[in-house]
Parts: sequence; structure tokens; C-alpha cells
Amino acid sequence: MKFDPASNIQYLRQFGEYGDVNPSITDSATYTFMQAKTMADTFHGETEGCFLYSRHWNPSNKYLADAMAAMEGTEAGWVTGSGMGAITTAILQLCSSGDHIVSSMTTYGGTFAFMQNWLPRFAIGVTFVDITDLEAVKAAIRPNTKIIYTETMTNPMLQISDIPALADIANTNGIKLVVDNTFTPMIVAPARCGAHVVVYSLTKFVNGKNDCVAGAICSTHEFIGQLIDVNSGTAMLIGPVLDPMRSSSILKNMHTLHIRMKQHSYNAMFLAKKFAEAGISIQYPGLPAHKGYETLKKMMDPQFGFGGMIAIDLGTAAQASKLMEKMEIEDVGYLAVSLGYFKTLFSNSGKSTSSEVPAEVQREMGLSEGMIRFSVGLDNDIEHTWEKIYLSLQETGCL
Ligand code: PLP
Repeated sequence: MKFDPASNIQYLRQFGEYGDVNPSITDSATYTFMQAKTMADTFHGETEGCFLYSRHWNPSNKYLADAMAAMEGTEAGWVTGSGMGAITTAILQLCSSGDHIVSSMTTYGGTFAFMQNWLPRFAIGVTFVDITDLEAVKAAIRPNTKIIYTETMTNPMLQISDIPALADIANTNGIKLVVDNTFTPMIVAPARCGAHVVVYSLTKFVNGKNDCVAGAICSTHEFIGQLIDVNSGTAMLIGPVLDPMRSSSILKNMHTLHIRMKQHSYNAMFLAKKFAEAGISIQYPGLPAHKGYETLKKMMDPQFGFGGMIAIDLGTAAQASKLMEKMEIEDVGYLAVSLGYFKTLFSNSGKSTSSEVPAEVQREMGLSEGMIRFSVGLDNDIEHTWEKIYLSLQETGCL
């Protein structure tokens, strides 16, 4: 049978302790044992099905981690209290003082700030490159490079990373490819394209309700085992664990993710075409004119479309503000950061989620101060939404 992330989640048989159709929530920090030896063995990771302490593993978190691994086609997963918790934990597991990372210049602003401002405190160096320039990626690799880091669809530029090509470069150099797949769950399964570690902010599309922050790391049993090793695991020792109540609610939301992704993609494609027809500068990887269109087509599962993220450029921050304020009044959606919500969210990336990126780097990556990033919602009547956007464009002098 063809790999289908949605069916992989559907066919997980996860029950509660009384045959509940949803797994029970394990509301415990610690677990009791009948035999002292079993506890000792569990400390050394040797007893399947036993739980020790909820910073290490919690059954509710395990259900969600298993669902993430099933979606990604990886052997294992681990869930974290935020997307940044997943990203920083994975990186700090793979890199030590003196190591080096080659990273996409366009990444989520928090990831950029972590690499640019925080990692140097521990003598971990980062070279930022245009991740679509494979020669630049190769040229940036040094003897101490441990990771190539990128996002499948980058935030906020919506560039597309060629994961199979980057995985080849990583494998040739004996290093790991770490991919943030937050923008493209279901659409792309990076590990199946060759990524060694896949990280997520579950806060976004995967949960889709904007009611919590959470994250996930998907990889091999070996890597997840290393993360939670009681003596040396970054997850175990730094402790970015997710609360089991939240795991339980996110798991239920995952069962509608495939339907939501199709609708996000349908609506985003509709708006992208309308913006293009109206002569507004638009980035959407689903339009053949987009530089990453062919690369995404090569990696994606077409049933889920090209994703829910679009970006338009109005030239100046003042013009972007005018339009966003008008669209909020017209109830197109909310002027808010974040993405993957059932309502449309829009923000000026350079002044919000990428404001950590210095102005000269924003210019280098081509991030215009007039760029508005949209996370297109699940609107049932997207034509009507476009009418509101069109009116807003007209009334703020964008057309
Ligand atoms: N990765 C991407 C691509 C993001 O856009 C974000 C947040 O916007 C994060 C990671 C961080 O996730 P969280 O806010 O859940 O820590």
C-alpha cells in the first residue's frame, strides 16, 4: 500500500484503559513498580511498556509521539512543550561546543535568533546560506559541521528546500539533515525524502486550534533513545516535556489534520490566483511561477495540496499595516502571528515573527518590509473572503 500519512494515523489502535476509544490521560508524574529490579531496568531503558517518570516518558505523550511517527514514517517520536523546545533539543543533542551548523538563512525568527545569538555562547558556530543554492550549502560545510538545518517550506519566504538533494550532501559528509516541517504536515514527509531528524511546532497546523504551544521530534529509535537517555539525553536533562493533558487534545485534533490541510491548501490556492490576477506581488509555492514549485511537486503528496501559507508584498511597512488593519475590520481574519489556525491570520513578517532577523539579513534574504504573510484559514466560502480582501485592497490604495 502507498504511504499515506492520514491512513497511518487512522489505523493506529490506541485505546484507553476501559476500552475507551480515546486513550486515557495519564495524570501522573511518577509510576509505581511491584519489583525494584524492574524500576532499575527501566532507568536503563530496558523495559518495554514501563514508565518511570513523566519528564522521561508519559503514556499520553507516547500516544501522540507514536501518531507523529506514523504520520512521518519514522521509527519513533518524542513530544515537547513547544516547537522551540523540539528544535533546540534536537540541535543540542547533535552539536557540542566547537561544532558548526549550516542553516537556511530563512528560518522562523526564533530559530534564527537561537542560532545567531544563543549558540555562540556555547561556541557552536552557524553559517547561514540560501538553502536553495546547493553549491553554497556544500561550500559552507567544514570539518566540524554536524548539521544541515532547514525548513521544508521556509518561514517567512516560502522557499522550498530540496530535501533529497540536501540529504545527499549530508550523507556524503557524514552529517545529519534536520528539517522543520511545521508548514507542510501531511504534504511532505521529510524523513521519507532522506532527512535524519524532523522537528515540528505542533502549535500550528498539526493542532490547528491555537489553544496551546507544543512540539515534536521524529527520527530513529536510536536518536529518540539518545534524547531521553537518563545520563546524557538532552530531552531528559533539559526537560522540555509536554503536558499530557495537552498531548491528549492534540492527538484528537491530529485525526482531522488531513481534511484541514486539504481545505487550507484549496483556500490558499484560490487566494494566490486571485492576488496574482489582481497584479499583487504574490509568493505561493503552488503557482508554477514560484521558484520552488517543481521541487515541492517532486516531494509532496498531491492529495494535500501546496499548503496554507501565502505571502504578498506591498512594498512598504506602512502600506502593509493599512491593509492588515482594514482586513481585520472586514473580518477577513486576525492580525496575529502564528499559523495553521482555522481562521485566517496575517502579519507583517519583518516586523513580527522575523523581527529577530537583523535588517541587513532581511534584505539579503529578500524579505521586503511590505511583506504580509497569510496563514489561510478553513473558510467555507473563500470567494466571499476574496471579495472582502479585494475591497480592502481597493480602499487602502493597493490597487
Ligand atoms: N518552527 C516554525 C516554522 C515556526 O513558524 C515556529 C513558530 O512560529 C516555530 C518553529 C516555533 O514554534 P513554537 O512557537 O511552538 O515554539
